[in-house]
Amino acid sequence: MDLFDIFQQYRIQQGSLEAKQGILQAKRKSTDNQLNIRHLEAKIDHLSLVCMAMGELLEEVGFSKKMLLDKIEEIDLRDGKANGKFAPSNKCKSCSRTVSPRHFSCLYCGTEIEKTSMF
Ligand SMILES: [Zn+2]
Repeated sequence: MDLFDIFQQYRIQQGSLEAKQGILQAKRKSTDNQLNIRHLEAKIDHLSLVCMAMGELLEEVGFSKKMLLDKIEEIDLRDGKANGKFAPSNKCKSCSRTVSPRHFSCLYCGTEIEKTSMF
């Protein structure tokens, strides 16, 4: 075996090792994603239950399904888009920049953000 063969053999082994590491990383990522999906499904199940309870309570006190659907449409449009979701945003009281409700502090200046929505 000459020097070139040894070098080629080394490169093949390195490539194989990198491929194995890539497969392991992909498997780990896949497991993480499955756990995240299960977590989200559990959250959706819980929110569905809460919505069902609120809907039934509203009907019991005299609100109709149409009133509920009209309210859903009104809230949907509050962010300017009729897309079946509401994306509220918070304004930082220090720098006045818009901050996603997912963040507890301003990304720009670090000021703590007061939560304006109960959801
Ligand atoms: Zn700020």
